[in-house]
Amino acid sequence: MAQIRIENVRKEFGAFTAVQSSTFTIEDGEFFMLLGPSGCGKTTTLRMMAGLELPTSGEIFIDGEEVGMKPASQRDIAFVFQMFALYPHMNVGKNISYPLLSQGMPKAQVTKKVGEIAEILGITDILKKSVGGLSGGDRQRVALGRAIVRDPKAFFMDEPLGALDAEFREHMSEELRALHDRMNATTVYVTHDQLEAMQMGDKIVVMNHGVVEQFGVPQDIYDWPATKFVAQFIGSPPMNFLDFSGMVGTGTTEVRLDDIPVQIPESREGANGRLTFGIRPEHVKLDDTSRYRGKVIATEYLGTTQIVTLETSNGLIKARLSSADKVRVDETAGLTFDPRTITLFNSETGQALRSAANLEVLGNG
Ligand code: ATP
Repeated sequence: MAQIRIENVRKEFGAFTAVQSSTFTIEDGEFFMLLGPSGCGKTTTLRMMAGLELPTSGEIFIDGEEVGMKPASQRDIAFVFQMFALYPHMNVGKNISYPLLSQGMPKAQVTKKVGEIAEILGITDILKKSVGGLSGGDRQRVALGRAIVRDPKAFFMDEPLGALDAEFREHMSEELRALHDRMNATTVYVTHDQLEAMQMGDKIVVMNHGVVEQFGVPQDIYDWPATKFVAQFIGSPPMNFLDFSGMVGTGTTEVRLDDIPVQIPESREGANGRLTFGIRPEHVKLDDTSRYRGKVIATEYLGTTQIVTLETSNGLIKARLSSADKVRVDETAGLTFDPRTITLFNSETGQALRSAANLEVLGNG
């Protein structure tokens, strides 16, 4: 298995830049997610790592070896496309054994290997079946089997569950993650679905317009978004943003929203001008003793929780509250925010203002 590193990798298609100077490392055995909206450059990044697209500049290393000029066939990576690309005229066993037979592996060895893989995937009983009559899940397992069987250095998957309905998708994502945990194979997985990325990934790269916005473990990305884009793209409902003008210089531990002081966890360096106050819905609490107030304009019942939308003089705020809390439309309520959960952003650049404590947790990356 393999460590993969990309350094300052850039891809231009004519005058259009699809990927701008990306740098990150995928550690050996990681389940790594490339996440971002449609057109942000995820697939292009994956294809460059696989050798299916040449970078315009930058370097790609697999296990320390620079492979930028190596063709895909010499990188030993298994690309799992939308899973359903099977050979229709071959049965399940033949579909899985094909990559080994075409490499010239002796037949007895191939049979043993296919048996092991079928066991791992739970498809031993369908090895002799034609792929034509299989269910979606079994087709997917066969496609995976064909990728796994030749022990590649890494698996690359591009929206592999994209064509499935929600329930089956969840089931297959659990299966894929469990399979990864058994095999510990380096896996790079492209998705535009933030929930899928958070649930399955050891690490996530979030991309937007060809730029790597943030790279890290799911919880750091959720708790300490590096940019407004990340804070909005991850989480449902997304982080609330309240614009205000003010100074948050060294030594200051409060900001003024609607002229009411609100505590922030720590002073932020170099913060002044137009700033944005960010708070996730689950960190907004209703507290009638608070002077910072909003008017309830909607409630959305979600079972154990409810999403309450309030109008404040700085904009709309959504709060995730217990469904047991009695909240009525048109009433006004005091709002409080746990200072440890507040993120401040530069409104112009969208960059989060990091405190010393943030930087200690996240490093400088
Ligand atoms: P999606 O999920 O929609 O595939 P993505 O994040 O994977 O999105 P890419 O497929 O990497 O995005 O494409 C990034 C941008 O580069 C898109 O605007 C796309 O139109 C453009 N692009 C990709 N391949 C080419 C190409 N061969 N020639 C020109 N433009 C391309």
